[in-house]
Amino acid sequence: MPRKISRKGLVKKLDRVFSIFIRTRHAKENLVQCVTCGVRKHWKEVDAGHFVSRRHYATRWNQQNVHVQCKKCNGFHGGQNYIMGKYIDKTYGEGTADELITMSRQIKKFTDQDLKTFNRTIFLNFPLFLEGFTSVSLFFFIHICLNQNIFCSFM
Ligand SMILES: [Zn+2]
Repeated sequence: MPRKISRKGLVKKLDRVFSIFIRTRHAKENLVQCVTCGVRKHWKEVDAGHFVSRRHYATRWNQQNVHVQCKKCNGFHGGQNYIMGKYIDKTYGEGTADELITMSRQIKKFTDQDLKTFNRTIFLNFPLFLEGFTSVSLFFFIHICLNQNIFCSFM
């Protein structure tokens, strides 16, 4: 029998794998760009910054809600929310930032199984929903996940 993972543990693992996904999805030779100030850094040195706070579970793992940010923008500058909203509208269409805010207010109850399925889906579809993703960054992604024991959560 595999070890039972607590709810908190599942959320933590999903956060971690989702963060790696967000930070690597547009990486070119391991470099990514902060969406709010434009600085380029190694994906390991940046954050996955939320537009709507991750307190709201309905949008916590929404791909349109979370983007690469340097630590300065995400931390010191409090998330640069306005600029991030502009970026989201520009990327996904006018009104998307507002839609995310509306969506975030819904009460969303994820079951443990939902979290596991979502975690698995990120992995299985990983190379498919990426642009400009190199095999090198994919290699690093898998390497890191193995190192951090992320795979156990759905094995
Ligand atoms: Zn920045």
